[in-house]
Amino acid sequence: MAVFWYLLRRMDDQPPMLPLLTIFLSGHDAPCPSCGYNLHGLLTSRCPECHQELHLTVGLVEPRMRLWLTAVVAMAFGAGFNFLLLVYIVLTANKASRLLDLFLIHNAVGLLVQGIGLVVLLRWGRHIRRSSVGVRFALCLLSALLTIVNVIILSNSTG
Ligand SMILES: [Zn+2]
Repeated sequence: MAVFWYLLRRMDDQPPMLPLLTIFLSGHDAPCPSCGYNLHGLLTSRCPECHQELHLTVGLVEPRMRLWLTAVVAMAFGAGFNFLLLVYIVLTANKASRLLDLFLIHNAVGLLVQGIGLVVLLRWGRHIRRSSVGVRFALCLLSALLTIVNVIILSNSTG
């Protein structure tokens, strides 16, 4: 038991993950995540090119990005669509009419709703990516439906 504690204390005293990093890099080509320099055969924990500190990590094969990213793209498409139409309306403001006012209101509301949705998806992205497939799929579907409804409402408001 004393030997175990001695070894555990010795492991704590060593620089974190340095032996495993150098062992891994002695047999593998790996680019520096910062500058792309090939770290094969590296003997320290710093990149010789950009001098950034390095460590060995365990990563996910598939980092659960697909559904979240699809939701972000759908929401950004809707918000961007509204934003561009608002810019267009402002640029052609001299041709203002009642129809254009309605179109302006629909665009402003659409931009507000989809903009808030986009901020929520980006702000709580890490939390969303850790949620279940069902929750992520529902958010993805909600984003796509919001954008489709937004476009349908806009196409109806132009007559
Ligand atoms: Zn580097």
